[in-house]
Formats: sequence, C-alpha cells, structure tokens
Amino acid sequence: MTVDLVVRGCRIVTSTATLEGFGIACDEGKIVQISTDSTLPAADEVIDAKGNFVLPGIVDTHVHMRDPGDTVYKEDWTTGSAGAACGGVTTVFDMPSALDTAYEVRDISTFRRKEEAARSQSVVDFALYGLIKEDNLDDLVKMVGVGAVGFKVFFSASAPGAPPITDGAAVDAFSRIAKTGRRIAVHAENARMIERNERAFKTMGRGDVMVHLEIRNNLSEAEAIQRAILFAEATGAKIHIAHMSSGSGVDAVAAAKSRGLPVSAETCPHYLLLSSDDYKRIGSVIRVNPPVRHKTDSERLWLGILDGTVDCIGTDHAPHSREEKVTDDYWKTLSGFPGLETSARLMLTQINSGRLSLNQYVKLSSENAARLFGIYPQKGALTVGADCDLTIVDMRHEGVIKAEELQSKSKVTPFDGVRYRGKPVCTIVRGNVVMEDGEIVSKPVGQLVKPAS
Ligand code: ZN
Ligand code: ZN
Repeated sequence: MTVDLVVRGCRIVTSTATLEGFGIACDEGKIVQISTDSTLPAADEVIDAKGNFVLPGIVDTHVHMRDPGDTVYKEDWTTGSAGAACGGVTTVFDMPSALDTAYEVRDISTFRRKEEAARSQSVVDFALYGLIKEDNLDDLVKMVGVGAVGFKVFFSASAPGAPPITDGAAVDAFSRIAKTGRRIAVHAENARMIERNERAFKTMGRGDVMVHLEIRNNLSEAEAIQRAILFAEATGAKIHIAHMSSGSGVDAVAAAKSRGLPVSAETCPHYLLLSSDDYKRIGSVIRVNPPVRHKTDSERLWLGILDGTVDCIGTDHAPHSREEKVTDDYWKTLSGFPGLETSARLMLTQINSGRLSLNQYVKLSSENAARLFGIYPQKGALTVGADCDLTIVDMRHEGVIKAEELQSKSKVTPFDGVRYRGKPVCTIVRGNVVMEDGEIVSKPVGQLVKPAS
C-alpha cells in the first residue's frame, strides 16, 4: 500500500510517553499507522523529522480572528491562521464576540457567515463558539445544531457598546446549554466593580498603565469565577474559565473540581511569564483583560498547571493596530495582543529550563482542550484513526521574538525582544503540510471542527 504522507525520524510525544525512532503514516487526512521507521509503508510524500519531537497538533481554545467584521485591518483569517501555523497551532477556537456587535456569532446565519470566512482563508482547522447574549437565548441550542464547539459568555463587557449579560439571563442560558452538553467559556470579571473603579480613577486623573491592575483587581475576577461556578452547579452546565489570571481564581477552580463539578480552566502565557514588575518596561502594550497580575498570581497559576487545576494554555490572540496599543494614555489604549505565534516558543523555552515536561505540555496545549470540548480523539491525540495534525518542534532552535516579524497584521507583542529556545518548525493539518521553517506552504485547507455529538 502507498499512503499520502509519512513522517519518519520522529520522537513522538504523547501525554504519557515519548517514543524514539518512530514514524507516522497518514492517508486521507487520518493517521493510519504509527510504527518504527523501518516498517512504515511507502508514501507519496516523505518528511524526515530529523529526530525532532512530534506533538499532537496544538489546539488553541481562545483566539479572536476579527473576520468578518469592520476590524479586519487588525487581523483576518489569512493572516491569523498563518500566525497559528507558524506557532504550531493546528486548530483554533474562534471567539464569537466582535467590537462591532453586527459581526457577533449569535445565531445560525452569523455562525455560517463566520464559517464561510474561515473556510475560504484559513490554513488551520477551526472551531467556532456561539455568543450568549441577553436576547438570543432561543438561538443557543440551534447553534449547537450547526456545529458550535461551545459558547462564550461575558460577565463584563466584551465591546464598548455591548452591556454585560444580566445574571438572570446567564442562568437561563446555562440551563438551556446544560442539556446540550456543550461547555461555556466564561469571561469572568465583575462588570459593576470595574465600572465603578473606572469612574473613580478617571476622577482622580490617573492615566498611567498601572491603573489597569487596580481597576480590574483580583477581587473582580475571583467574584465572577465563584459566581460562574455557582451558576454551573445550579444548572448542571459545564464551564470553562477563560484566560484565568489570578491565584484566587486557581483556588476557586481547585475547590470546584474537588467537589466534582464540571469546571475547567484556561490560562495564557502572559499570565504565567509576566507580572506587575513588567508594566513599566513594556508600557501600554501589556494592557489585556483580565490584566497581567502579580508574581504571587503567576506562581499560583504555575502550581495550577502542574497539579492539573489549570487544563489548557490558550493565547487570547487579540490583535490591534500599533496606534491602538502604543499610547501614553491608559484610557485610549485597547486591551489584548496577538499570541498565536509566540505561545509555543515561550512554553518550549520553559520546558527547556525544566519547569514542565513536553508530556505535560501535550496535555495543556492539545489533549485536554480536545477532551473538554468533545473533539477527542479526532484532535489532541497521536493515535490511529485521529486526524493527522502534527506539530514538529526543534527544541534546540534559539532565537529572539521580534514583533515586526509576526505573520499577524498586528506587529505588537509584550514579548518583543524575548529570547526563546525551542520552536515549531513544521505544522501539519490533516496530512497537509501547512508550515515549514516559518513559511506558509499551503493553500487554505482549514475545515470546521464539530464535536461528535
Ligand atoms: Zn474574554
Ligand atoms: Zn478573549
């Protein structure tokens, strides 16, 4: 038999083992054989991994591609998915919010509009969240029917013109979604506390970036996470705490898990690797919601990563233009920055320094996300029958992150100038080689990923 693709010379990494001298055979997008190199079948295309580590393709549970929308000057599916591929990411979960609410994914037709934009441009696979709004509760279950991977709810505002959901509507939505088994990603910050703090600090005339930490303080996140857990327990809904940034958040999730509640959590590299000590050096670019917090918070998040309280590392890839990010006025700076291309390099560097293992990283970057959102083992697994999504990483490759070299339209990152050791060198999506040595080498092959049931 001749298959489509063979990758030989791999060190295959799963969450439980590392296999040396093995290879992977792929046919029609699926893994058909994993065996020693000498027993692999003949193939139309052969890639030599040269002893590099081969991981299940990275699944990023949190990106904002801005497309369709009136903000595609910040990013679109072509540039965003190129960034994903260069970052070793093979599946992105796109958030349903939009800065202009006309482009939110909030019902079947807006879901299909987003799916079409992604399919025509993306070089990586994509899953789409539906948005929970005050007034679209009857559309939620219908979005499950067309393939929504989960939902996102904002306990604090997502866009300037979009008020946060009321608690009553949130509970109603949680009850409806509980019946579908889909998971709800929660933006957990207390809107009323934040609004009051904003007014107070504006009156005081504060406009420096440090004020961000005080406006969106730890209590505003801890309260919202606790509330989300209460709502989940009352309704039976599965929830996923998005971009968890605080130590008290980790404690709340750990307590919920110990009580057997279906609560999972995601954090991002900026919460693990940056702290309040970095605000003066990085300036306004560091602004993100929730904020990068204190050393004690990142230390608690690291413990949560190692003990399984934190399930996933997402990026909250949220590009803006340079003018929107680099300002000397807090009130004019937008929150968020791109992360798809930098996440793996940053985390592989931590692995090289011994802070976690590649096997643990497979869980955090891929396997857990796929399991939690019902797309395992199609995604998140190196096993016969799974999609052949591979991230090949060279753990010895050293370099410096340069903002101007990002594939993203947004040439802004708080990690500009940071040295790394370890880099994705090849990204394969369902047997299609989409990135090789930092170059995009494929036409758009991305498809919508739907949970099995
Ligand atoms: Zn959010
Ligand atoms: Zn986000």
